[in-house]
Amino acid sequence: AKRRGGSSWHWYSSNLDAGMQQQVELRTHLQEAIQKEQFELFYQPIVDSLGKPRAVEALVRWNHPDKGYIPPNDFIPLAEATGQIIAIADWVFERTCRDTKALVNAGLDSVSVNFSPLQFYRDDFIENVAATVRDYGIEPGQIVIEITENVFMRDSEHMINLLHQLRELGLRVAIDDFGTGFASLSYLNQLPVDGIKIDRTFISGIDNAGRNSAITRGVLMIAKELGVRTIAEGVETEGEREFVVTHGSDLMQGYLFCRPQPLETVLKWVAEQDK
Ligand code: C2E
Ligand code: CA
Ligand code: CA
Ligand code: CA
Repeated sequence: AKRRGGSSWHWYSSNLDAGMQQQVELRTHLQEAIQKEQFELFYQPIVDSLGKPRAVEALVRWNHPDKGYIPPNDFIPLAEATGQIIAIADWVFERTCRDTKALVNAGLDSVSVNFSPLQFYRDDFIENVAATVRDYGIEPGQIVIEITENVFMRDSEHMINLLHQLRELGLRVAIDDFGTGFASLSYLNQLPVDGIKIDRTFISGIDNAGRNSAITRGVLMIAKELGVRTIAEGVETEGEREFVVTHGSDLMQGYLFCRPQPLETVLKWVAEQDK
C-alpha cells in the first residue's frame, strides 16, 4: 500500500492525476460536511430603485473546519454531479424557511433560494416543498425559487409543469443569470415565471459598454411588456445603479448595497436602512 510513509495523496497520485484525486477527496469531505451539517446560509439584500431593502437571496457556504469558508462555486458543481446536491438542498431549503420569519418580520417581502435542476426530478418534489413551507408557518408567497435557464434543457415540459404547480401553491419563481443560458426572450412569455435576474455579466460596466447596455435595455423593456419583474444583479458602482434604475429595473442586488452576510448581520443592516 502506502510507500515512503507518504500521505494518501502521494499514494493515489501515481494512479490518478492530481485534479481527479482532488475531486475524490472533495467528494468524501462533502459527504462528511453533509453529515456534520457544516453549511451556513448567508443572505444578500435586494433593494428597490429607492434603495429600500425588499428581499434577500440565500447563498450557501461550506464552513470547513480547516479551510474556512468555501464558496458555492467550489463545491456545488461537484455536488450536482454526484447527487450530493439533494441532501445539501434539503438543508438549504429548511434553513431558508426557518429564517424567513425573522426576515419578513424585519420588513422584507420575500426570501429567494437557489434550486438545482436535479431537485426537480425527485418523485416527491412538490410535496416536499409544500410540507417544508407549511412546517415553518410561512406564507408561500414569501419564498422565491431561483432557477437557471438550463433547467429547461432536459425536459422543458416537465419543468414548466412543476413551475405551474409551485405557483399554484403560491410560491414565486425567478429565472437566475438571465441571458447566459438556454432560454431566450422569444419565449419568456411561455414560461410560468414571476421575475428574471439579469446576470452580472450584462450589468458590469454597463454605463460605458455599448453592447451590454443595448441588451440590458432590451431585456428590461420586454420584461416590462410581459409583466415580469426584473432584478439587476452584481451592481457594484453608482454608474451601474443609475443606468439600471433609469431603464426601469425593479430591483437591484450587488456589492454597492451590501455583500452576502450571516442572518444577524443582514437583519441589522436592514434595520439601519430604515432610519
Ligand atoms: P448566483 O445565484 O448568481 O448568486 C449571486 C452570486 O454573485 C453570489 O456569489 C454573490 O455573492 C455574488 N455577487 C452578488 N453581488 C455581487 C457584486 O456586486 N459583484 C460580484 N462580483 N459578485 C456579486 P456566491 O455566493 O459565491 O454564489 C455563487 C453561485 O453559487 C450562485 O450564483 C448560485 O448559482 C450558487 N449557489 C449559491 N447558493 C446556492 C444554493 O443554496 N443552491 C444552489 N443550487 N446553488 C447555490
Ligand atoms: Ca441566484
Ligand atoms: Ca444570479
Ligand atoms: Ca450570476
